[in-house]
Amino acid sequence: MTKVRVRFAPSPTGPLHIGGVRTALYNYLFAKQMGGDFLLRIEDTDQTRFVPGAEEYIIESFKWLGLKFDEGVGIGGEYGPYKQSERKAMYKDYALELVNKGKAYYAFDTAEELAQKRAEAEAEKKNFQYDCHTRQSLKNSLALSEQETQELINSGAPFVIRFKFEENEQIEFDDLIRGHISVNSSLLDDKVLYKSDGMPTYHLANIVDDHLMLISHVIRGEEWLPSCPLHVSLYKAFEWEAPKFAHLPLILKPDGKGKLSKRDGDRLGFPVFPLEWQDPKSNEISSGYRESGYLPEAVINMLALLGWNDGTEQELFSLQELVDKFSIERISKHGAKFDMEKAKWFNHQYLQNVPNRVLAEEYLKELNAKGYNTNIEFVESIVALVKERCSFAKELWDNSDYFFVRPSEYAEKALKKRWKEGTSQRMNDIIDNLSKIEDNKEWGEKAEEFLMEYIPKNELNMGQIMNSIRLAIVGDTKGVNMVEIFKLLGKQESLERMKIASEKINL
Ligand code: GLU
Repeated sequence: MTKVRVRFAPSPTGPLHIGGVRTALYNYLFAKQMGGDFLLRIEDTDQTRFVPGAEEYIIESFKWLGLKFDEGVGIGGEYGPYKQSERKAMYKDYALELVNKGKAYYAFDTAEELAQKRAEAEAEKKNFQYDCHTRQSLKNSLALSEQETQELINSGAPFVIRFKFEENEQIEFDDLIRGHISVNSSLLDDKVLYKSDGMPTYHLANIVDDHLMLISHVIRGEEWLPSCPLHVSLYKAFEWEAPKFAHLPLILKPDGKGKLSKRDGDRLGFPVFPLEWQDPKSNEISSGYRESGYLPEAVINMLALLGWNDGTEQELFSLQELVDKFSIERISKHGAKFDMEKAKWFNHQYLQNVPNRVLAEEYLKELNAKGYNTNIEFVESIVALVKERCSFAKELWDNSDYFFVRPSEYAEKALKKRWKEGTSQRMNDIIDNLSKIEDNKEWGEKAEEFLMEYIPKNELNMGQIMNSIRLAIVGDTKGVNMVEIFKLLGKQESLERMKIASEKINL
């Protein structure tokens, strides 16, 4: 069996959409499972669409995600260069080879002439297509005599080279996801392979490179399926063996209505790009998963499941598990709806696996920046307590601010419900009792033990009293277990906060 070699072949026309990331991921998983190679090729033949910074962005995105290429731009390899603009010189000979074989032809029609044809067709409510039905009436080497063609070339007239689809031939191929596909060649337009600016088009460069780089499987987005009959025909024309094809379903908007576009993300409140991106022209910023606090492992897991599952209910997969379990057969034929809540859920799950110490170190930096001087052990204990309430590291603060700041006010609703006439007096009595407890490591447990006895003994309502204490200490009815709060804040600070509340609220 030939070695599996797959490639991710983005065009550097902007930031990388997560649909593209998923395509790369599926290529990666397949390659690694089969002991094959995963290549990065930059397809930059369309210089009008080149966006500065896009190539670097792509490379950085995969670094962040932890998907390593075996060959390609920025890595090197035996089959380089891997950037098409650096391979420019080789494509013309391939285009000419097809002309010589009678599989392609020169076309001299100017942009204006073609626009004219299009307008004429439109006037008759028809579509103009450069194809087997129209080409004999256009300005190309099939319609002109050999001498006329030669003269035009010699005179330096600009030309393109077009693929020549034979009339009424069935083009057949198998797609690993969609099954057998058959298209009649008479329906297809004679696509340009080589442009008048001396650059190949995507179609020619893509096929030539896949062939020269020994690509065994082309796994790419569904938007390329309509180009596949041309690609298959090109392989045939060159008499090369075609790779196997798999066209992936789209990632859809959350409501399932259409493809998830780059605008949807920030409109609906979630990132569509792996990293934040600033458009070099408009300066517009689009949010990124990295900057929004997502963990790369969570993004990978989420994307893997947008269009694939292993046939069980399992949702959490490490990258290695994905490599082991991935299969092209289990890729869905239908588009997968993006689900923002699910994305957060994945991050929540992965955040729980981050060691407390690691989160604490990050959180300590944030606390220092906010002006709180504290120590790593204290922060680590807090992280251990509140982590399960967070989907993102940036939510630690909202879930634990009360460990660092005394409440400056008390939540209105909670106050109304939990602080009645007599509560302050009761609080003072509780403070007096609690202050008798020895101030050591066990103080928190002892305080709770005391309250568990004191409340029923005085025929008080457990919820009412415990919540008024919480309100005094936290400023709201939120927060972790009261014993833990007592312990971490310490006896002095806990009682101080209770005192302040009983004075302040009664004023
Ligand atoms: N350059 C194409 C893109 O931007 C590659 C398509 C393919 O994989 O053949 O998606």
